Amino acid sequence: MLLRGQRQRVALISKHGDPAIEIGKEEAGGQNVYVRQVGEALARQDWQVDMFTRQSDAEQPKIVQHSRHCRTIRLTAGPETFIPRDDLFPYMPEFVRSFQRFQVENGIEYNLIHTHYWMSGWIGMELKKLQSVKQLHTYHSLGAVKYQSISTIPLIAKTRLASEKTCLETADRIVATSPQEMEHMRSLVSPHGNIDVIPCGTDVHRFGSISQTRARQLLGFSPDDKIVLYVGRFDPRKGIETLVRAVGQSKLRGEGNLKLVIGGGSRPGQSDGIERERIESIVAELGLQDMTLFPGRLGEDNLHLYYAAADVSVVPSHYEPFGLVAIEAMASNTPVVASDVGGLQYTVVSEETGLLAPAQDDAAFAVAIDRILSDSEWRDRLGRAGRQRVEEKFSWNGVAAQLGKLYHKVLKEKPVEKPAAVKKPSPVSA
Ligand code: UDP
Repeated sequence: MLLRGQRQRVALISKHGDPAIEIGKEEAGGQNVYVRQVGEALARQDWQVDMFTRQSDAEQPKIVQHSRHCRTIRLTAGPETFIPRDDLFPYMPEFVRSFQRFQVENGIEYNLIHTHYWMSGWIGMELKKLQSVKQLHTYHSLGAVKYQSISTIPLIAKTRLASEKTCLETADRIVATSPQEMEHMRSLVSPHGNIDVIPCGTDVHRFGSISQTRARQLLGFSPDDKIVLYVGRFDPRKGIETLVRAVGQSKLRGEGNLKLVIGGGSRPGQSDGIERERIESIVAELGLQDMTLFPGRLGEDNLHLYYAAADVSVVPSHYEPFGLVAIEAMASNTPVVASDVGGLQYTVVSEETGLLAPAQDDAAFAVAIDRILSDSEWRDRLGRAGRQRVEEKFSWNGVAAQLGKLYHKVLKEKPVEKPAAVKKPSPVSA
């Protein structure tokens, strides 16, 4: 029972996606952005939001206060260093223990958690055995989909698939971020379980706040440049190779003003370095060095400028459950050429806000990019329609309002499953 003026608490658990970290480097991407933006927006409404993640560097502060009612709390689970997410599973029982210790030490018992990515889902299921708590879960990536598109299946796959299935069947609610993701859960994971669709969002004030002309002046581009933009992590599944090969085939290559900007990535030597080197070598092989720029990680001060300056933003991923970059570009009045997969089929309306092309088909990407670059009036129309679509459907405040409503609803429902008799976390068998 809440006292007058007291806020309902929610714990967002994002074991590897630290919401307080710099985005774009190592494995930090959409999940980090999602958790932070949703957390901050929920706190602007009437929630007390604690976002739990794993301490991945001994120098990091244990608690980061984002606003009066929203903070990131870093718990100890394994060595305080960066560990790739596929290797984190053995440290999850420790995360559960640290979470419980935090509750005891601070006199808090959360009765609502929203878990992110399968390992946090596992943590949520363990907590449900130990205390009375409602669990909502967002996958961010589904093993059943991911493993279809990679050649080497990691050792953790079996555990992940089993955990994703149990989570779908027992969580009080699954939040899918697109109808396509929900469809995949139903067809590939389980016909059971409660799913609601609430999309990801974006900052409609920051993106779209500056004109293309001004953004180009600030970044040193010329008004005549034809700018093709990629934003995201360096990961083979992001399909940067498809984009580079598409630009290599562009009919506009001979005109001299075509520019390819590949934004994102860590400093050399960090974990995404291998993919970056591979992409750089394809750029060199195709003779595109003079027209290709690698500005590195884009942040608070310049990400919105790059989106605004671009003529087209390309999202060539092999698969995307949602794909934040597409709506950020659209919010910036920039049309999107994206792979015809997953959440991109939901956010990008082909021929209206951009174009969809078959994933990994560089010839089709080349045609789509050229179509947009060679008709500036149509490009502008696509850009305006994209902005309108984002304003209507994908603002963070709107997304958080939908989530808040669902949280209240779930809190009032009967539990899906009574807390089981098991009082100890399950043994880890990776
Ligand atoms: N991002 C960023 N700076 C960069 C590269 C990426 O801020 O240099 C952000 C990007 O704007 C987006 C997120 O990282 O918000 C990537 O999310 P997306 O859903 O597109 O992909 P994910 O990383 O989750 O696979």
